[in-house]
Amino acid sequence: MPELPEVETIVRGLERRVVGDMIESVWIGSRKQPLKSPAALIAGTLEGKRIDRVHRAGKHIVFELKSFATLPKGKRSEKPDNNAAQWVVHLGMTGRMVVSEPSTEIAKHTHLIATLASGRQLRFVDPRMFGKLSVHSAGFDPGGVEPLEVSEERFIALFRGRKTPIKSALLNQKLARGVGNIYADESLFRAGIRPRRRAAAITRKELGKLYRSVREVLREAISLGGSSVSDYVDADGEEGFFQLQHHVYGREGEPCHTCGTAIRRVVLVGRSSHYCPKCQK
Ligand SMILES: [Zn+2]
Repeated sequence: MPELPEVETIVRGLERRVVGDMIESVWIGSRKQPLKSPAALIAGTLEGKRIDRVHRAGKHIVFELKSFATLPKGKRSEKPDNNAAQWVVHLGMTGRMVVSEPSTEIAKHTHLIATLASGRQLRFVDPRMFGKLSVHSAGFDPGGVEPLEVSEERFIALFRGRKTPIKSALLNQKLARGVGNIYADESLFRAGIRPRRRAAAITRKELGKLYRSVREVLREAISLGGSSVSDYVDADGEEGFFQLQHHVYGREGEPCHTCGTAIRRVVLVGRSSHYCPKCQK
């Protein structure tokens, strides 16, 4: 499942390739599962719009769209664009956003094809259909704070006093968005905190350490281009990801890189959590 760093990498790839291009036409498949807005509304919103910006909100890809007709050639309208819109894509478990040449064979499980004025196509492919496509007029907000933007004070305040295990709190997208299973485990390892500890039992100082660890892990993964262990590809359709060296995630029974103790795995709310019983308290 793509986490924040993978989505950030995909967003940067898309930004380079499609910003400034115009969506000429949209084809939407017959499967309803990925559509969180009606198909006709998605097509109607996208068609004729220019892609002004691509950015990330949590694990969502947000395309900022401007109405092309209101921007005469060579002129920049300073007036607010009443036809601005947002196209929001969540990749779910197996979703991919691919920039393709029209001659490229259409992959199985393609749910949307946006043909651009440049001749290229933006395709959304998702075999398992946990991905989501929607359109919004403005101000899309997935909830939660952005871990790379939030202040230390605010981060600590979010987690302090919670009765749930710290790992569950980290995965709660309504608190901090975009931190998934892999990066939660790696952040807790660096902060020296066991995943099962109740958030309420963690000191302010430790939460400060966790705040820095989360940001450090996410930044490192972004600089490596994401560290996904699943099989998706970047905006070019190429394998674009390098694996961040995991210290605990997926390493049950293997020696801790710091102390040599065997890494343990516990299941917390249905998700595997990995930790070093010596380095993490
Ligand atoms: Zn250790």
